[in-house]
Amino acid sequence: MAGNPRIGVLALQGDFREHIAVMNSLGADAVGVRRPTELAEVEGLIIPGGESSVMDKLSRLFGMAEPLKDAIRAGLPVWGTCAGLIMLADTIVDGIEGQESLGGLDIAVRRNAFGSQLDSFEVDLDIPVLHDPPLHAVFIRAPVVDTAGAGVTTLAALADGRIVAVEQGNLLGTSFHPEMTGDTRFHEYFLSKVLSAH
Ligand code: GLN
Repeated sequence: MAGNPRIGVLALQGDFREHIAVMNSLGADAVGVRRPTELAEVEGLIIPGGESSVMDKLSRLFGMAEPLKDAIRAGLPVWGTCAGLIMLADTIVDGIEGQESLGGLDIAVRRNAFGSQLDSFEVDLDIPVLHDPPLHAVFIRAPVVDTAGAGVTTLAALADGRIVAVEQGNLLGTSFHPEMTGDTRFHEYFLSKVLSAH
């Protein structure tokens, strides 16, 4: 990999440590981001899985919501996984009372889309941009993309057609958790996006 870009992982809540470890293993310089000054120093940002309603509250409490929205608008490459995908969605379906997102992705995302009977599951997903073999994807109380605007590219869908990975300009979103399986191709895909944004 050329260069070692500084990758931030939003570290307000959720499984940010796992993303930092994967990114460092790929030669990136990965750091947790909790403050606007830390956000200003990164070349790309991951918003991890966790609980989007808590992440939303903490980002507003710590004065991070507006700087994050500004960075998204300014073209910073940002990848949201699971709760992070919810944070990037323009519209949240089944959010808690008063829940807000940062927005940026022209999608409606449904929280906890698989209900309580199917809380977590794993499936092999064909993701053309990652080439063969299929990616083993772990879903944990995962959201799905209900609707996507014309500018949004679908990167992966389940067998029933429900969309679980999208890309739009500088933004990337996945319903599942690529940081948990040891397959680093999605992290490499994001890194190449960060490098080509230079
Ligand atoms: N259900 C969580 C939410 O609404 C997301 C779960 C996850 O990130 N694994 O934010």
